[in-house]
Amino acid sequence: HAPEPDAAGAQARRLTRQVVVQHGGRRVRVGGDAPVVVQSMTNTDTADAVATAIQVKELTQAGSEMVRITVNSPEAAAEVPAIREQLDRMGVDTPLIGDFHYNGHKLLSDFPECAQALSKYRINPGNMGGGKRRDDNFAKMIEVACRYGKPVRIGVNWGSLDHELMARMMDANNRRGQPWSAQALMREALVVSAISNARRAEELGLPGDAIVLSCKVSHVQDLISVYRDLSARCDYPLHLGLTEAGMGSKGIVASTAALSVLMQQGIGDTIRISLTPEPGGDRGREAIVAQEILQSMGLRAFTPMVVACPGCGRTSSTFFQELADSIQTYLRQQMPVWKTRYPGVENMNVAVMGCVVNGPGESRHADIGISLPGTGEVPSAPVFVDGERTVTLKGERIAEEFQAIVEDYVAR
Ligand code: SF4
Repeated sequence: HAPEPDAAGAQARRLTRQVVVQHGGRRVRVGGDAPVVVQSMTNTDTADAVATAIQVKELTQAGSEMVRITVNSPEAAAEVPAIREQLDRMGVDTPLIGDFHYNGHKLLSDFPECAQALSKYRINPGNMGGGKRRDDNFAKMIEVACRYGKPVRIGVNWGSLDHELMARMMDANNRRGQPWSAQALMREALVVSAISNARRAEELGLPGDAIVLSCKVSHVQDLISVYRDLSARCDYPLHLGLTEAGMGSKGIVASTAALSVLMQQGIGDTIRISLTPEPGGDRGREAIVAQEILQSMGLRAFTPMVVACPGCGRTSSTFFQELADSIQTYLRQQMPVWKTRYPGVENMNVAVMGCVVNGPGESRHADIGISLPGTGEVPSAPVFVDGERTVTLKGERIAEEFQAIVEDYVAR
């Protein structure tokens, strides 16, 4: 197998407290020396327990290690225990995180079984009302978290920033002759809001190792700036995500750009890739993209990597792309069984290359590689195992025979 994931160019991970998010015997560690955790969020109506449980299962199968569900109404809160029960019956022990806005204090107080069934609460201090009401609502939610021993993410968001805090900071900025731009002031307000609410939660009795922070914005440079500041000013574990990242490749590219810069600097303990699903699109794509970012950076390994060249005028047929795609799909499908049977298999590298220009070289660097012949040449493809050329596959069944060689290699 290839060596352990190697993030040689990355800065050392910033040391944070460690928060444990637990359901039954499943303990997901966030922060400290734990690997960066992948999470995602359902888009079903939580009041529809069956649909939500099914999507949580799908997100888990796609690679999500924690799943957030919105808890936005009494109907939704009433169904949370049923969602948990259905998941337990299906053997899905993924911790559920409840996402609360506006009425979380009431829902958590009125539905104790919901409060108990969730493994963590997400609280947005920017939309809990104002003044004393805001303070009381926040205190009520922290009190429930303390009572049930649940960790909390204090999740501040650009789109729902605490208006009173922002107004106070703007007044102070005006009195000093506006040394800060409006944009810089907004970034500072996000950081101040997150940290001051975390400190208040600790004063209210929530242990410091039960708090995760996030400050989400929708622009890459703002996100990088905010998280650098946040990271320098506290040691709570940080949840990274570019909010409202967008659809398709735009959402993936923007999230990858922002999160990669931060993680390269050792910042970030759990990530979510917020993608707007295309009509009929698969929600699990969020978790797959998150895994691929972490694996591409050498920070974690989930599924054997297929290295494939882009193809060019030397590859006249689609056979080469089909082979690369079928091997990647096959490897992903095998992982639920392989990862328990063959520890370390996720570190394996497979190369599928289009022609002799880079094919043999790249294939030799992989654990297993195949180099197709390119245009107009005899349809024969040398296979390389552990850097040595072994057999040459020919004819119609190259794909099946190569897959069998991969399977045999893994078993050995
Ligand atoms: Fe083109 Fe060959 Fe390079 Fe693939 S390996 S991109 S087919 S030259």
